[in-house]
This record gives sequence, C-alpha cells and structure tokens, in this order.
Amino acid sequence: MTVTRDRPMTYSKMRGLVSFFSALLKGKKVGFSEFLHKFVSAQHLCQHLDPQKVLQRQSKLRRETEEKGTVSPVSTSQMKPSDFDYVKVIGKGSFGKVLLARHRKQGGFYAVKVLQKQMIVKRKEQKHVMVERSVLLKGLQHPFLVGLHFSFQTPNMLYFVLDYVNGGELFYHLQREGSFPEPRATFYAAEIAMALGYLHSLDIVYRDLKPENILLDSDGHVMLTDFGLCKEGVAVGGIMHTFCGTPEYLAPEVLQGHPYSPAVDWWSLGTVLFEMLYGIPPFYSHAKAEMFENILHAPLQLRSGASPAARSLLEGLLDRDVSKRLGESCDVVELQEHPFFASINWDDLLARKVRPPFIPKVTSPCDVSYIDPEFTIQPVPASVSGRCQTGVASEAFPGFSFMNPVEFVAAEPVS
Ligand code: ATP
Ligand code: MG
Repeated sequence: MTVTRDRPMTYSKMRGLVSFFSALLKGKKVGFSEFLHKFVSAQHLCQHLDPQKVLQRQSKLRRETEEKGTVSPVSTSQMKPSDFDYVKVIGKGSFGKVLLARHRKQGGFYAVKVLQKQMIVKRKEQKHVMVERSVLLKGLQHPFLVGLHFSFQTPNMLYFVLDYVNGGELFYHLQREGSFPEPRATFYAAEIAMALGYLHSLDIVYRDLKPENILLDSDGHVMLTDFGLCKEGVAVGGIMHTFCGTPEYLAPEVLQGHPYSPAVDWWSLGTVLFEMLYGIPPFYSHAKAEMFENILHAPLQLRSGASPAARSLLEGLLDRDVSKRLGESCDVVELQEHPFFASINWDDLLARKVRPPFIPKVTSPCDVSYIDPEFTIQPVPASVSGRCQTGVASEAFPGFSFMNPVEFVAAEPVS
C-alpha cells in the first residue's frame, strides 16, 4: 500500500467508478441463499465451479480444518466482529485498517480488512468495495491470489476475512534490498503474470498492480491482494473508460483517460519488473506532474545491469502503443513465450512446485516480523470489535455479507 511511500494512498480510488456491478445489487436486499443461487447459476462462474473441483476442494478444506483448526462454516448471518480477537494492526487502507485476527473458538489466524462505511459512502466508493468483494469471491481457486473466507457487516463497518499472508509485501523486501537479482525478479514476475492471466480469463482487470499489493506467503510464493480497483466484465480486446490506478504504475492510456483494456496490467507488470531490477519505477519523479509527463513522453531508459532478455521484455511491456504491447493480443501466453521466462516451467510454477528464491523466516502462522513496525506498533482500535455501533450507512451495501460458497458446500454432508 502507499502510506509507507509518502504518496497519496487514495489517489486512484478518488478517480475511478465502476458502474455495472452495482446494478446487480442496487436497491435489493440480496439474502445469502439468493446470492448463492445467482452465484452458482451464473454461467461464467459455473465454469470455475466445476463440481469435481468443489468436491476436491471440499475435502481439502475439511482436511485443512482438521489440521489447522481453521473456522468451520457457519451461517454468514452469524459471523460477527466479536468472533475474532484482533491481535495486531498489519496494514492501513484508504478506508480502514487490516488486522491480524484469531478466530476465538477455532483458533485460525486471518487478515481482517475493516472498512468504515461512512468514509466509503462519503467518497462514493461503494461500487469499488462491492467489486472487491465479488472479485475476491471469484478468485477462490488460484494459487497466487489471496482467498476470501467471509465478509460481513455491522452498521458502521464492513469486514473482509482473508487468508493471512505473512511473508511481507514485495515492497517491504524490495525496499530493504534495493533491487532483486534477475532470477528472483523472474520468479515473482512469472507468478504475478499467472495470476493476472487468470483474472483476465475471468474478464477481470486488476489495474492496481504495485509492489504494495503483492505479498509473499510463508513459502515465498506471490499472493496478490487488494482487489478494490479491479474492473470486472472487461474481455481481452474490450475497453474501459474509467480513470483509475496509482501514478507510478499507471499505463499512459489510463493517465490520458483513453479507453483501456487488460493490457494496462501488462504495462503495470512492466513497471513492477523494472522496479525489481533497477530499484525505482520507470519514469519516476518526486514531482507528480513531471512523472505523468515522463510516463506519457519520456523515452524508456534501460541502464546496463539487466540482461538483453529482460530489456526486451521491459520494452515489450512498457510500449505506449497498446496495439504493439506484449500481452495485448494473446494475453499471458505472449509473456510465457518470451525468452526472459525461458527458465520457467509454467506447469510446475502453477503447481507451486518451483522453489521460491527467497523463503521468509516465519515461525508461526501469526508471525508479524515481515510487517512494517509502522503498523504493528499501532494500538488495535476498539471500534473493530463491533461494539457501540449505531445504524447508519448500512443501506449502501446490500448483499455484502458473504460466506465462501465452497465452505458453505463443505458444511453439507458428502453423499
Ligand atoms: P483499499 O481498500 O482502498 O484498496 P488498500 O489498498 O490500502 O486499501 P489493501 O492493499 O487491501 O488495502 O491492504 C493494505 C495492506 O494491508 C496491504 O498493502 C498489505 O500490507 C496488508 N494486507 C492486506 N491484505 C493482507 C493479507 N491477506 N495478509 C497480510 N497482509 C495483508
Ligand atoms: Mg493496497
């Protein structure tokens, strides 16, 4: 996230509005069963909820529940803030905080993102939040995307209960090391590319790719979090007119307010890869206006130090001409075929069989040693436990409360 870098964290959030998803829920009180029905009957989602896979995941979840003591399914209406003990602040978002929390009864650790409804409503960001929820819901089955277990609400707050990913932000590690050796950057870029390709295959554009939103899990694999700016419903080759994103990582077409496509994510991956290899984003300037100007017009400068394959990939991803940008026509496949990734076995990578180049030294699922002390020293706000809340702003989020449908299925006996 942006706070550690002294740049306006809400920059992008101030600009974008996602319009279509609210139409689905606007003005309706969608109960969970109705929602679930809509969810499973939506054709494109069904493609990703293959019954076989659901059952496999069901038994995997059961096993994990037994092994790790994670939360067994309950009705979403029963979920409440006081089900958790809030242990530490681990991050700060535009509308609230992210906390490490432990489920009181069953003991599993989670990252709970708590958003203040009033701030969201004030800044007219309900649509982004609902999109984040629906996108997290769809992103259940990818090894490099953070999973959402539950979302629920109180009169004042919205809660996302996510997997706690404890290896730290990629930004945390990058800041400490300055830059990464090329094999390490290759590994992260490849895992990120797989996650982006998967989202694009679901007609979702991530849009907010930056090192702060890329976490490492305890094994050292990439986990993308923060789906607040994702834009659903955009096919490869389709266009979006919404202005969104974070300055350093913004594609020129976004900056200019032109229609844009999933290729914006390939530009952003180019900026993140550039930063991993060179230590700063391309086109960077302290002065935002100058940085905008640089992104639009300055020549891409690729200093020595990176291999010819890396430079060629960066040139391909950071091409201002979208029609020529790598990934524009065949998406992630174009990247997979690039010589920069010649060392990657994509099947093994997806199966998490490739050994990560750096393995975080975490000692337990609640280890916070890779979280910036800027957050962990903060006191846990009493308000997150959900007591003393009055009934305002709740109408803006009908249908928000949610339980992972796979966990819901897991609550039923297997026949
Ligand atoms: P917004 O809701 O406006 O998008 P944001 O972008 O600041 O806010 P996130 O990026 O979702 O919010 O979360 C803020 C920070 O909290 C992240 O940068 C990360 O450091 C931490 N964080 C978020 N999710 C997790 C998680 N699942 N596990 C561990 N840390 C997390
Ligand atoms: Mg973020």
